[in-house]
Amino acid sequence: SVRAGIVVTGTEVLTGRVADENGPWLADRLLDLGVELAHITICGDRPDDLLAQLHFLADTHVDLIITSGGLGPTADDLTVATVAQFCGRELMVDPDLHARITAIIRAWATRRGSDPDVDAISDAIGKQATIPVGAEWVAPTGTAPGVVVAGDGTPTVLVLPGPPRELQAMWPAAVATTAVRRAITGHAEYRQQTLRMYGVVEAELAESLRAAEHDVDGFDALEITTCQRRGEVEMVTRFEPSSAAANDAVVALLTDQYTDRIFSTDGATVDHQVAALLAGKQVATAESCTAGLVAARLTDLAGSSAYVAGGVVAYADEVKVRLLGVDPALIATHGAVSEPVAEAMARGARERFDADIAVSTSGIAGPGGGTRDKPVGTVCFGIALADGTTRAVTRRIPGDRADVRDRSTTVALHLLRR
Ligand code: ATP
Ligand code: MG
Repeated sequence: SVRAGIVVTGTEVLTGRVADENGPWLADRLLDLGVELAHITICGDRPDDLLAQLHFLADTHVDLIITSGGLGPTADDLTVATVAQFCGRELMVDPDLHARITAIIRAWATRRGSDPDVDAISDAIGKQATIPVGAEWVAPTGTAPGVVVAGDGTPTVLVLPGPPRELQAMWPAAVATTAVRRAITGHAEYRQQTLRMYGVVEAELAESLRAAEHDVDGFDALEITTCQRRGEVEMVTRFEPSSAAANDAVVALLTDQYTDRIFSTDGATVDHQVAALLAGKQVATAESCTAGLVAARLTDLAGSSAYVAGGVVAYADEVKVRLLGVDPALIATHGAVSEPVAEAMARGARERFDADIAVSTSGIAGPGGGTRDKPVGTVCFGIALADGTTRAVTRRIPGDRADVRDRSTTVALHLLRR
């Protein structure tokens, strides 16, 4: 398959002042194209460091290198010159590109109602219109053009601007250039499958995979990674098309063993599954320890206004009574963190919002407040349905306060899924 490497440049990204958006976004696009991503590296604005990373990626035999950032008009933006050096090309002003950038700047100035002094910024325009000899350029979506230098036994290099919106807007045209198309076509597509599991621990899965290694022919050609996240286990398998049968065999073994604990084999998240199940319905929330995080997660997805009615943050016991109609005797008898109270909260929310289903949380996120019976991480969840029935579950959720609150939202979503 085709292998690619990404170099994200910028001292602000290197030092963590700006979180990298371009690497993950480009990784997804490469996956869409069936290109295998080998590396994402980050370097600052020093040309020597960029040059070193370009050589490193070439040594790992990638077919395509994509860089982001360092295309601005200022002296510290040196990506194009560095790439020219890497590819052994001279730099030259491209007259068409020069005219294009000048026109863009004139249009901007006109829109702002000022007369552009193009002469005064001609150095800046000249710099941004300078590209390696023989390179293709991609029309600017800001002022900086993209640049593609075709490789010849060496990687093809695609240079993209740093601002994520500019980079993303430029992507379709960049992929359509002759050099990029040549670099990524004519090879088998790399594939990927994602399994999502709930109620499975990573060690248990590792054991199953050890067994699969014995039983499945061609297992070694699969690149399998597992990762525990937000109370779920995610397993991603990457493989050449010729290994599709081995992948199918592993998936069949795992679904036999884990049945419905594997809730997704097509990459869909629980959030998307819940959204699909709630179509045509109304959901309400009653949250104590998560204090709105479940409602926030439900409304993360665009279009959620069709099925999210609303929610109550009932942190204080008195609010559970006053706004949700929980019987104070229940709280006195069982405590606020209890299944009867969680069920009463869910019932109260469902009735008050006239919803089809409601979910509630009441727990001890810590670090204080734990008891012997109810240690930190104890969280009770309630579900109330339109037919008047309710159910509850209690979970011991590991981790610190942030983990307990975040993972509680995952449990709540899985309860809504069932
Ligand atoms: P400009 O013409 O704006 O200077 P550029 O191509 O030179 O564009 P940079 O100077 O590297 O790009 O970055 C400009 C700004 O874009 C950064 O300050 C940052 O806010 C944003 N940016 C750059 N790279 C990234 C990245 N990888 N992830 C998120 N934001 C980024
Ligand atoms: Mg810049």
